[in-house]
Amino acid sequence: MTEKIKEIINNQINEEFYSAYLYLAFAAKLEKWGFKGAASWMKVQAQEENDHALGLFRFLLDRGEEPKLKTIAGPEAESFKNMLDIFSAGLGHEKHITACINNIYELAREEKDYALESFIKWYIDEQIEEESNATEIIDKLKLIGDNGSAIYMLDQELRTRLYIPSGPYATSNAAKA
Ligand code: MG
Repeated sequence: MTEKIKEIINNQINEEFYSAYLYLAFAAKLEKWGFKGAASWMKVQAQEENDHALGLFRFLLDRGEEPKLKTIAGPEAESFKNMLDIFSAGLGHEKHITACINNIYELAREEKDYALESFIKWYIDEQIEEESNATEIIDKLKLIGDNGSAIYMLDQELRTRLYIPSGPYATSNAAKA
């Protein structure tokens, strides 16, 4: 594996752990506002992000490389005023992650690393879902506006999200992770 590829994957491990951290910061803020359902949704999302990081971690080890863990930055959640602000920031973050994943795919092709090219496709597909999930909730929040009882109902709906192990090894070989 080339140094460039090791570097980009180690960076992505950090991005995915940061994502988990960011969604936890969102969960903290939402729960402080009394939105326990939305907070729970964010905590499930954070668990999935942890799985995404571990998928990349596993890929490096399977290729004979040692993952290098970098410092995780502290997310900034102070400027948010409402649930719409938070989910919009989440969508913005997912768009950034999509760009990162696309860069990995491009590098895999440039360096003719076919194993990485195949592996990273799971993440490309996952990003379609991540952006679509966030967009759907944002659309609902825009529709609801400041209708308190509708916001309460949406919060109840978000509470129903369950954690299902995510990542490229989640269904095929969970024991490996
Ligand atoms: Mg992710």
